[in-house]
Amino acid sequence: MKNVDYIIVGDGYASLFFAHQLIKNNKSFVVFSEEKKSASRVSAGIINPVVLKKFTTFWKAQEQIDFLKQTLNEITKYTGQNYLINAPIHRIFHNENEQQLWLKKSSNEDLVHFLDKKIVHLNSVKNDFNSGKVNQSARLDVNGFFTGLFDFLKNCQQIIREKFIYSDINIANHTYQNFSYKNIIFCEGMGVKNNPFFSDIPVVPNKGHHIKIELSQPLPENITIKKKHFLFPLTKKKYFYGGTYDREQLHHEIDSSAVEQLISGLKEFYPHDFSIEEVNFGFRPTVKDRRPIIGRHSEHRNMYVFNGLGARGILNGCYFSKSLYDFIENAVPLHQEVCIERFNSGLS
Ligand SMILES: Cc1cc2nc3c(=O)[nH]c(=O)nc-3n(C[C@H](O)[C@H](O)[C@H](O)COP(=O)(O)OP(=O)(O)OC[C@H]3O[C@@H](n4cnc5c(N)ncnc54)[C@H](O)[C@@H]3O)c2cc1C
Repeated sequence: MKNVDYIIVGDGYASLFFAHQLIKNNKSFVVFSEEKKSASRVSAGIINPVVLKKFTTFWKAQEQIDFLKQTLNEITKYTGQNYLINAPIHRIFHNENEQQLWLKKSSNEDLVHFLDKKIVHLNSVKNDFNSGKVNQSARLDVNGFFTGLFDFLKNCQQIIREKFIYSDINIANHTYQNFSYKNIIFCEGMGVKNNPFFSDIPVVPNKGHHIKIELSQPLPENITIKKKHFLFPLTKKKYFYGGTYDREQLHHEIDSSAVEQLISGLKEFYPHDFSIEEVNFGFRPTVKDRRPIIGRHSEHRNMYVFNGLGARGILNGCYFSKSLYDFIENAVPLHQEVCIERFNSGLS
């Protein structure tokens, strides 16, 4: 029997950012990964403090950005890689009104550090009404982040490439197969629906597709372009464009209407030829009030859930992993806004 402080179930942003808290605090743990393509793996990696539809910001945006940068620096120290790409978002304006709204909002107290006042014309794409730069926005090198952390965990023998079988938990003895644990953290994204302890948490899938494309005319490397969806380079030739949002078509296959939507979205501002190399999709675990769901099981007091990261898996996953850690180890209460108790679902 191997003794560990924590078992983490799942291998997306929730899991890996929580694992980082454990590494930082010298706790022993293992991560169970069933090796499916998680929503995190297909995400764009956008780090963005602004809601780009309405030009507003959100709860704790500055704190979350600062904490993410600090956390990525810490991860770099033990994996030896940098995962932060400084390629700010340029939001193409649809019309003159949008440009005016951006300029007006750029003086608002809560947006002054995010909406750049200088209006920019992009030479490489169609932007008749120009674009605005989102200060402090950036990208995570998604593939690098997962490869780097998985390799690190593999070297430390802390990753188990197996599906976690809930019925193998011995609740009375706090054991799972050949592990004796103090706590279990469930970070399964939409997979939580198969978890007998937390299946009733109100997370709703929102399916997102992206395409990987080859552009006939390359774009500048140091920006991320946003109009409808995000476009940015992955390599010299390959680009990412996505992702879509869909709460209705939830089957586990590529949806041709989502691909059509991406093609027409890209054609709106990219006037040259392109070819689609790959299509991927994933399911964002979303919550009606757009806040994560974090908490302890009402009966099994060493079981916890970390879910509902929504469309902002990177910022939410990073920031709230510390809240969960402090809740468990230091008895720091969770924010009411993210606490599982807000749903009165019998869990606390
Ligand atoms: C197309 C798209 C683009 C996106 N772009 C962005 C973006 O640019 N920026 C951003 O911040 N967010 C983005 N998101 C949202 C973000 O991806 C999600 O919020 C985030 O991935 C959720 O992370 P998670 O760890 O909770 O779940 P997931 O990433 O789904 O990870 C859960 C993992 O747990 C595993 N698992 C489940 N059950 C078990 C079990 N029993 N045993 C072992 N393993 C198990 C699953 O296989 C899965 O791999 C995007 C999402 C999509 C779909």
